Amino acid sequence: MTPGLKRLSLCVPFIWLLALMVAGSPARADEETRGAVMIEKVLKTDEEWRKLLTPEQYRITRKKGTELAFTGEYHDLKEEGTYQCVACGLELFSSRTRYDSGAGWPSFLAPVSKHHIEEREDRSLFTKRTEVVCARCDAHLGHVFNDGPKPTGLRYCINSLVLKFVPKR
Ligand code: FE
Repeated sequence: MTPGLKRLSLCVPFIWLLALMVAGSPARADEETRGAVMIEKVLKTDEEWRKLLTPEQYRITRKKGTELAFTGEYHDLKEEGTYQCVACGLELFSSRTRYDSGAGWPSFLAPVSKHHIEEREDRSLFTKRTEVVCARCDAHLGHVFNDGPKPTGLRYCINSLVLKFVPKR
């Protein structure tokens, strides 16, 4: 091996490392792209949603309603599992990020994926809040507030009626 070739072969691992640092982790980039692409919208007419949902589920998911505090089926649930959107089945939250906020609604530090929810400005009731909706079917879920505990500091305050709990097997 010539001295020039030897020097070049010694440099290859460093060049590869440099390329990885510049490009970031390829696996992670793929994951982000897949997550963003996977969520296809579920579009239904108002009449179709009415037929599919109970009157209370319809009132909350399609008309931005709120269930009374401490009355929801899951307001005090401690079981391990995941919470899906009651309207389209998309996985939204996990018991792993659930905590007791004392507010009377299921509270979470974060969704299972940032791609599974959308956040929108809500200026109703003479105040400014951030509404949380299902990224697939646009169901109103609740609101997110900045008064949660660490590590996110967020409180996703979600109506029980928009969730379907699936216990961990
Ligand atoms: Fe949904």
